[in-house]
Amino acid sequence: SVFEYAPAPESRAIADIAPSYGLFIDGEFVEAADGKVFKTVSPSTEEVLSEIAQAGSEDVDRAVKAARRAFEKWSALPGAERAKYLFRIARIIQERSRELAVLETLDNGKPIKETRDADLPLVAAHFFYYAGWADKLDHAGFGANPRPLGVAGQVIPWNFPLLMLAWKIAPALATGNTVVLKPAETTPLSALFFADICRQAGLPKGVVNILPGYGDAGAALVAHPDVNKVAFTGSTAVGKEIARTVAGTRKKVTLELGGKGANIVFDDAPVDQAVEGIVNGIFFNQGQVCCAGSRLLVQESIQEELLESLKRRLSTLRLGDPLDKNTDIGAINSEEQLTRITSLVELGEAEGAERWSPACELPESGYWFAPTLFTNVTQAHRIARDEIFGPVLSVLTFRTPDEAVAKANNTPYGLSAGIWTEKGSRILAVANKLRAGVVWSNTFNKFDPTSPFGGYKESGFGREGGRHGLEAYLDV
Ligand code: NAD
Repeated sequence: SVFEYAPAPESRAIADIAPSYGLFIDGEFVEAADGKVFKTVSPSTEEVLSEIAQAGSEDVDRAVKAARRAFEKWSALPGAERAKYLFRIARIIQERSRELAVLETLDNGKPIKETRDADLPLVAAHFFYYAGWADKLDHAGFGANPRPLGVAGQVIPWNFPLLMLAWKIAPALATGNTVVLKPAETTPLSALFFADICRQAGLPKGVVNILPGYGDAGAALVAHPDVNKVAFTGSTAVGKEIARTVAGTRKKVTLELGGKGANIVFDDAPVDQAVEGIVNGIFFNQGQVCCAGSRLLVQESIQEELLESLKRRLSTLRLGDPLDKNTDIGAINSEEQLTRITSLVELGEAEGAERWSPACELPESGYWFAPTLFTNVTQAHRIARDEIFGPVLSVLTFRTPDEAVAKANNTPYGLSAGIWTEKGSRILAVANKLRAGVVWSNTFNKFDPTSPFGGYKESGFGREGGRHGLEAYLDV
């Protein structure tokens, strides 16, 4: 059971938090209208962690109605009052971050080092940041009297379950909207724990509703006539479907979709530092990151030196039990995702790219994939074009900055990129030509609630984070 894994004496079983493993509607954990349940498993052991109520369209309707009722009072509260709830939620997240980190690692498969040091601090920071905005909206240049939109229908993926929840819920509540959120089917646990935190914080009933379930529940939520704003993070295919559903309605929509980020290393880059950035760029969260640096573009003259160093570094990564704090590479989130990664990697080999992995033993049960490097990759290869969403790096080379820019932009996506060089002028010149929503220089995968995040092209539209993240939830 989940309880057995809990590290802190104050930890409680999920059963204590959500006795019926229920949907969270109008401040209560309840069964699904049709009584359906589904199981969530640990990707590192394939053990069943919990049985959860599965939302259907009737439940979506119940939750949207609850959110609508709550909207009247919530939106009328002074910003400073809404801020108090958000600050309280942020503090409880901090207090309970050990429990949350363990739960997230169990359900998602990512190393505890990451949930403890990256996911949870960012989640709390996000709530603190938007709490600070709640009473300043009238003076933030949005125009006089900016108004909330109403009920926000939010659908999130499994790669950063709690962080994506924070990105969605914190700005929505700060601006006076109410929320119905559907977590991904493979990672519902931390969202249900969060529901309990909302109760603990005394958040008025119906302001936040959480509906664990599958894509059909997400589709029903997006299509519900009384939802005013749709916020989605997930695959480009589903994002396009949602855009079609919302077209012709008056709903506002933001989409955060896939990516195929380029990490560009120039010949004057400090190699050791670049290697750390490349590893972080593609192996953080087993590469299941929308803004992963999945294409390495290296200047031809340093290719050999860089690859040698990179392979040495990859040989030191520890793959295994995600709850072990020394683990660098955890499990892949689901069998389905593992199959997708495996088939794209096999395709890469079949297309003639050269595959390399460090020697590493994969555990017998669970879903695992060794860190993988592809050389001899051309732009025509599927592994250089498709989002793999796994620990797989494709290496391409370039000779001039213009060629690097052309190759980096040669993708339907436009979410992230990285530049490694000693020359500040080159950073600015190259960054301005990259069609990517975020460009890091001499670092990668750095996040901050004050920075807007989002994509160009097929990576979606709208921004989350920062002041821009508020605009998506306001009529100005
Ligand atoms: P997915 O699109 O299959 O699922 C995402 C969510 O949408 C899940 O909650 C799912 O149940 C729900 N869903 C599925 N079908 C739906 C439908 N027809 N209508 C409404 N909701 C539906 O994606 P995934 O496999 O869970 O996540 C991986 C993808 O997400 C990757 O492509 C990745 O790049 C992307 N992603 C993007 C960002 C970003 O910020 N841009 C962040 C994380 C993940």
